[in-house]
Amino acid sequence: MGLIVMKFGGTSVGAAERIRQSAELVREAARESAVVVVVSALSGVTDAIVKALHAARNGSSSEVEARCRELDARHEAVIAELFAPAAREAASAAARAGVARLGEVCSGVLQLRTSTPQVHDMALSLGEEVSAQLCALYLAQLGLACDYVDAARVVVTDDRFGEAAPDLDATRRKARQVLLPLLDSGRVPVVTGYRGATATGQLTTLGRGGSDYSATLLGAAIGADEVWIWTDVDGVLTADPRVCPNAATLAEITFGEAVELSYYGAKVIHQRAIRPCMEAGIPVWIKNSFQPDAAGTRITTTGQAGSSPVKAVTAVTRASLVTLSTRWDVHFAEVFGRLLLRLAHEHVDVLFTTQSSSENALGLVLRERDTDVVVHAIKRLFRTELKHGVLNPIGVERDVAVVAVLGQAMKGVPGILARLFGAIARRNVSVIAVAQGASELNICFAVPSASAGDVVQAVHEEFFGSKQDALVETGAARAAAGTLFT
Ligand code: ASP
Ligand code: MG
Repeated sequence: MGLIVMKFGGTSVGAAERIRQSAELVREAARESAVVVVVSALSGVTDAIVKALHAARNGSSSEVEARCRELDARHEAVIAELFAPAAREAASAAARAGVARLGEVCSGVLQLRTSTPQVHDMALSLGEEVSAQLCALYLAQLGLACDYVDAARVVVTDDRFGEAAPDLDATRRKARQVLLPLLDSGRVPVVTGYRGATATGQLTTLGRGGSDYSATLLGAAIGADEVWIWTDVDGVLTADPRVCPNAATLAEITFGEAVELSYYGAKVIHQRAIRPCMEAGIPVWIKNSFQPDAAGTRITTTGQAGSSPVKAVTAVTRASLVTLSTRWDVHFAEVFGRLLLRLAHEHVDVLFTTQSSSENALGLVLRERDTDVVVHAIKRLFRTELKHGVLNPIGVERDVAVVAVLGQAMKGVPGILARLFGAIARRNVSVIAVAQGASELNICFAVPSASAGDVVQAVHEEFFGSKQDALVETGAARAAAGTLFT
């Protein structure tokens, strides 16, 4: 008998029918394994909470009230469909209490007309608090022995509100203390995703989409055999099917590939969620709760060799290139060193960098949303150097897309860059900047945004062929046209 952590995303619990199906999946798994369930809020609920908090900050009490009423109605509709009359009162009370708490936080913000990330974290995971209780009550109605567990009791984090980092040792201690006795007595704990708490008990969240992280953390903390992420796509695809209609589901990828994929735009799993299971060597499945019979993608330490050394091609379409160059007689490493330290303090992720010493120039390829922050930081940090011409004026090129080509099996294979850039040249696209990771796990390059779709298609065709048949024949992939890469 193994131990599985199963996480259900927002769309997998987004309506009564979806909760019913997901509960079936839990029930089935619980026949053979010990199961811990982690749930997201009903789809759209966290967005609604964010909007309510913003409305409160802007002083619009009527919008806050309207949003709370909508949330109540949404939960009530699900409850009415899901529960027998006898259980309805308990479910409604739990849902109303969550929304009432949101109302309280908002009225504090309304009065003060200001808020902080900490205040937001008091409300942001209320959707999870409600959905986990509804799922636990529904599983109980089906006759399963289960218990609602507030993640604030088990996930310990630092106090970076809004995007807190977990303390794995403390979480391990607490999770074992709380969850193992339940599992030992044959019960199924149903845990709120997304939420944690500091050592002193203040509520935190793990960043948007963070319920995946909750699941992998808890999986690592209690030594699960597997973590299953139930979502609304068949798994990890070779490309975004909206761009490449013949993109196929990958049967198996490595943790390293999954990290790169989520970093470069594939939102199949939360970016930081891969680490805990990667370190513990616990396989993670991405599965489609709408198509539970589809194989899904397995993420493991070793992965599985496909027919192509390239596993996937992905793109971040809203990026920019910021270039900083020094006068030739300046030791640029010192200047760039200061800059990189500053970026770390600003918590900016650089998609990739290029540096050419002959030009004494550093190119930073950034997400569009980070660009102004970085330009501003450079101006402040190097005010004197810019003023005296030690640094040349900052170059900013917008409307850039970053394409990433990934695959562990590329390592040591000659000719991949030639094939890659040959395919792009045939589309007559000029590449703006390039970097190949020294691990040879990824090749990233920047192209004009307007060419991104074309380039992704060219690369996909080069490495996966243009026909879906060719993919299916390899046996490494399953066709998944029509699903979203999200
Ligand atoms: N409900 C949260 C969000 O929408 C967390 C999650 O779904 O994973 O970001
Ligand atoms: Mg979600």
